[in-house]
Amino acid sequence: MEKHILIIGAGIAGLAAGVYARLNGFRATIFELHDLPGGLCTAWERKGYIFDGCIHYLFGSGEGQPFNQMWHELGAVQNRPMINHDEYQRITDGEHTLTVFTDPDKLHAHMADLSPDDEPLIRQFCEGVRQFTEFDMSAMYQKPKMLMNAAEWGELGLKMLPYLGAVTKWGMLSAGEFAARFKHPFLQRAISQMFSWEEAPVMMGMSLLAYMQTGNAGFPVGGSLEFARAIERRFLELGGEIRYKAQVEKIIVEEDCAVGVRLYNDEVHRGDYVISACDGRGTIFDMLGGAFADKRIRRMYDGHLSTHSMMQISLGVKRDLSAAPHWVTHLLDEPVLVAGEPRGEIGVKHYCFDPSLAPAGKSVVELIVRTNYAYWQRIYGRKLYDDEQRQVSGIMIDHLNRWMPGLKGEIEFVDEATPLSYERYTGNWMGSTCGWLMTKETMPMLIQGLPKTLPGLKNFFMAGQWVEPGGSVPLAAASGRNAVQLVCAEEGVEFGG
Ligand SMILES: Cc1cc2nc3c(=O)[nH]c(=O)nc-3n(C[C@H](O)[C@H](O)[C@H](O)COP(=O)(O)OP(=O)(O)OC[C@H]3O[C@@H](n4cnc5c(N)ncnc54)[C@H](O)[C@@H]3O)c2cc1C
Repeated sequence: MEKHILIIGAGIAGLAAGVYARLNGFRATIFELHDLPGGLCTAWERKGYIFDGCIHYLFGSGEGQPFNQMWHELGAVQNRPMINHDEYQRITDGEHTLTVFTDPDKLHAHMADLSPDDEPLIRQFCEGVRQFTEFDMSAMYQKPKMLMNAAEWGELGLKMLPYLGAVTKWGMLSAGEFAARFKHPFLQRAISQMFSWEEAPVMMGMSLLAYMQTGNAGFPVGGSLEFARAIERRFLELGGEIRYKAQVEKIIVEEDCAVGVRLYNDEVHRGDYVISACDGRGTIFDMLGGAFADKRIRRMYDGHLSTHSMMQISLGVKRDLSAAPHWVTHLLDEPVLVAGEPRGEIGVKHYCFDPSLAPAGKSVVELIVRTNYAYWQRIYGRKLYDDEQRQVSGIMIDHLNRWMPGLKGEIEFVDEATPLSYERYTGNWMGSTCGWLMTKETMPMLIQGLPKTLPGLKNFFMAGQWVEPGGSVPLAAASGRNAVQLVCAEEGVEFGG
């Protein structure tokens, strides 16, 4: 009889675990609290506009490139055109504009033109981008590290060896620290925001530009929810089962072995293995009551590591913005107050590059700003919360109207998402959009790999963004695959697919 794997969460990690479970002959049931697949990888439709809530760039979008084979196995990329941009984004203070070209030669020339005095730093940065075009990040996820033998470690080491210098140099340097080395005041501000948060390791940004340059970080036409739905389809076609509106309350443990799950509606489902592919903190401390958390795990979840909370204001506007650059970060002269904190930059993105996301002649615009989770949490459930959302979107729209005169009068729909929306919708701790934020503190966790098991608990594995620091759609999927490799190892069978 088929062994049965119970999977908690139909985000990308849970769906991937489901597909690989079926490909390896296991019965697989996914329990999802929502009524849709995708988790954070989602989109929502309002009045004919599709507001995308996730993928800006998908590693593995390029045929034959790192992570691409996995997406084929998951049925996510077949017949799905990918949109590749030759500029990642623009950053402007109104006087100067940095266009972040994905081509390192163009980027070098453009930045050196902006600030000839900073040319040596610019050259080093662009050289790093060039080097990372050859970097096969997926090699680190081919097999769970705890299953690798000496020969496999040796092979991985050889693949990584040429990058050791670059990883040490750029992996431990934040965008903010790098920016401070520049002489030009505009570049100092722009570079710290170049990769969305100033704590981002420069290496993360370099690999992103490198993969954009090689056509391996495109946007999947149709958007994030369609992408997730394709994996859901593959899972169902392979004979998997998904239970929606099925929130897991407890993981049932007998004699230190995970044997099933109990839902909030008191249904009990028993199985041979449990893979949790949802919020790490909720899994360890709520579903398992903290019974399998050692000192290291408690320390990880004590709040000292950064997570990423943001606000997304999505607008449906009756204007065709396709001639405008698709993503511009505006550096403000005067900071705006968002949820009690001053913010000096606002990201503005439109999605006209994918006409399927808005009615003809109209556009989806998204305003993105980082924000403080605790503030939203304190006011949640009160009128203040709604008022604050309106107030923030009002301020942002007023700014937008200055950058795109008259746009305010053409807005047909406004949708606000706060960290509380992300938390309520996906159960992620503090509404984190990527689990642990990628910083120089979490970079070593990414390189070494976090354990996918809990001490003392058998037949249980974790997948998803809380065990792959920095998160992302490909790492979530790869960790779902890794979890099934661990089940195969337990069963003493060869992993296939
Ligand atoms: C705005 C934004 C932009 C992003 N941009 C990119 C990008 O450009 N490229 C990229 O690669 N990544 C991006 N990411 C990150 C990426 O989306 C995530 O890291 C990844 O999707 C996480 O997948 P996951 O399966 O680990 O977790 P989740 O997506 O959180 O999935 C967990 C699932 O578990 C369910 N669940 C939770 N608790 C329970 C329970 N008790 N019982 C049952 N089900 C439960 C949730 O509803 C959810 O469906 C972005 C994220 C956001 C929010």
